[in-house]
Amino acid sequence: MRNTDGTHYGTGTLEQRVLEDPGKFRVLTGDRPTGRLHLGHYFGTLQNRVRLQELGVETFVLIADYQVLTDRDVAHHLSENVENLVLDYLAVGLDPARSTIFAHSAIPALNQLLLPFLSLVSVAELGRNPTVKDEIVHSRQAAVSGLMFTYPVHQAADILFCKSNLVPAGQDQLPHVELTRTIARRFNTRYGRAGDVFPEPEALLSAAPLLLGTDGGKMSKSRGNAIALADGVDETARLVRGAKTDSIRYISYDPAARPEVSSLLLLAALCQNRDPHEVAEEIGQGGSGALKKVVTEAVNEHLAPIRARRADYAKDRGYLRSVLQRGNERANTIAEATLKEVRGAMGTSY
Ligand code: ATP
Ligand code: MG
Repeated sequence: MRNTDGTHYGTGTLEQRVLEDPGKFRVLTGDRPTGRLHLGHYFGTLQNRVRLQELGVETFVLIADYQVLTDRDVAHHLSENVENLVLDYLAVGLDPARSTIFAHSAIPALNQLLLPFLSLVSVAELGRNPTVKDEIVHSRQAAVSGLMFTYPVHQAADILFCKSNLVPAGQDQLPHVELTRTIARRFNTRYGRAGDVFPEPEALLSAAPLLLGTDGGKMSKSRGNAIALADGVDETARLVRGAKTDSIRYISYDPAARPEVSSLLLLAALCQNRDPHEVAEEIGQGGSGALKKVVTEAVNEHLAPIRARRADYAKDRGYLRSVLQRGNERANTIAEATLKEVRGAMGTSY
């Protein structure tokens, strides 16, 4: 059953169901190691991950290193980017004792799920995915690779290897979660004679499912329009100063008609735990100059403790590697158990 907001399923809102019984849920979510995490990640999914972890939901955080190759031919600076992701995770409050942080290239049994899953979707379905279409437009590849079309199926393997049923993510992930649900359902129908093997996961959106970058498009690591969590105070001020707005002086919150101004207002409001309409009213005739000043101050103040923790963790590279190694070990154990079950269901345990 689909709720009125179009993203939650089941009876009661997803939020209510999680609060009532956090132990029933298992989170899988992740990021591509294509650069440092930014404010879009933070308000789009990282805050929710930490909140769910604190509620006692078992949490898996994936570093999607194979997925880097969807829109470029070579994955540059991979180990540096992976280290930066782990740093960002720890800085925002993900706790390796409660959240398993791992890289999917290190989990062979997870990757084996890709083959049966590919057999459950049609080429036409893969070609229709709107997020993939948008990513092809922004791709740096000379030719669109097969991985670009099939990575959403790989993502289903990421989500289902640990039988996750909850995916806190940004709006661009909704088609992928929908496909994952389809794959889980088809696998269960085709092979689940002894009962369902996979749950149908639900996407959990935040109040900022699509934060815009400084150019007015989706804030993205790879599109040169992001404000990173790790950026300094002055760099943040410079980036916000250069952000696209519009020519209307009076500042108002109207996401449909004024997307760039509204995204900046939302950013300030989220940092200050306020309503974006209220922030807009306060600025009023101050125009985009005043708006940008408010945003810069709000972001820098909100990120100060996160940046301080990040700098602390950055002193111990050995610890960062050990977090990932322990996460990989745990993910491998779970993936092997799931693959065994899949083999049993498919009749390929010899
Ligand atoms: P890239 O440009 O390299 O694809 P990205 O910035 O899009 O990087 P991803 O690693 O692809 O980041 O996405 C990681 C998670 O962050 C996903 O759940 C995605 O939906 C979420 N996310 C990314 N950008 C935004 C954004 N601008 N607003 C809200 N959520 C976002
Ligand atoms: Mg992306």
